Amino acid sequence: MLDGEWTLSGSVSTTGDCFLGMWLALDHPTFAKRFLLCPAAEALRGTVDSISESQGAFSCLERVIMTREAESFPWGVIQQEFLNFNNVFDPPPIPLLLASLPSVKHYCQQSPIGLLALPNRILKIEHPPEIVTVHHPGLFVETGALWLPPIVLGATNRYMCNGINLLLSSDKPGTILPPEDIAHYLEPLKVMLNEIPVLHVESNESKTVPFDSVSLKDTKVEIYDYIRHCTVSGPGLDINTIKRHPTDLSRVQSILDEKIGRWKGKVFLKNREDCPPCSACGFGGFWKYKKV
Ligand SMILES: [Zn+2]
Repeated sequence: MLDGEWTLSGSVSTTGDCFLGMWLALDHPTFAKRFLLCPAAEALRGTVDSISESQGAFSCLERVIMTREAESFPWGVIQQEFLNFNNVFDPPPIPLLLASLPSVKHYCQQSPIGLLALPNRILKIEHPPEIVTVHHPGLFVETGALWLPPIVLGATNRYMCNGINLLLSSDKPGTILPPEDIAHYLEPLKVMLNEIPVLHVESNESKTVPFDSVSLKDTKVEIYDYIRHCTVSGPGLDINTIKRHPTDLSRVQSILDEKIGRWKGKVFLKNREDCPPCSACGFGGFWKYKKV
């Protein structure tokens, strides 16, 4: 056992150094394999490969819920740390294995990064689930924990945000929100939807392929409560008396569509009121206690 490794065997409250595991894994390839849960993935893969589709435990697995309960580390605080994790380590095998099972229809994750999170890339996997939901309160937050969720090709990708981007405009007829007022808020989405190389995972092999070479058929990205556009009415601009009326986001959507190339028609901004509960775990959203 390596120096420091023992302290990793504990709960959140007893782990002194949040990044100790990552540093140890960077220095020691054999620890990295255990750190990434590779032995567990190999055992699971052996189980998957040895059973026929009509029998065995995994043939009935329809919902996968990747909580954060089993994790002891935050894996990163800022986007650069998340990127370092992705760049230095191989993709974590457990989430990719589970998401690729033919029987899995509903998959969700809470972790932004780490061993139980799909890599935050565009992913081409065998047998994508019907719906992949990501819900994390820091999703797309501009300051603090900024990270971008994965996009699984062939699936409906549903992101449940904790929206902080509020646009207000007058409800007077003829008032149009200028595009430059909206564009600033769309920057993280533009980064996510860049036509960047795709991670193609097949069995336990992964390689990077050009974005142009993959099909977007059956791929959808639904983004809930990322941005809220309200028209306002009422006497004056008193915050206590002003009335906000959420719009259908069509104005914001049209600005986004101009910026996302091949993703146009695949990506939809939606209000929190339109969001169904997570199809995997039933989570109802961060907006339960929010006002309009
Ligand atoms: Zn869920």
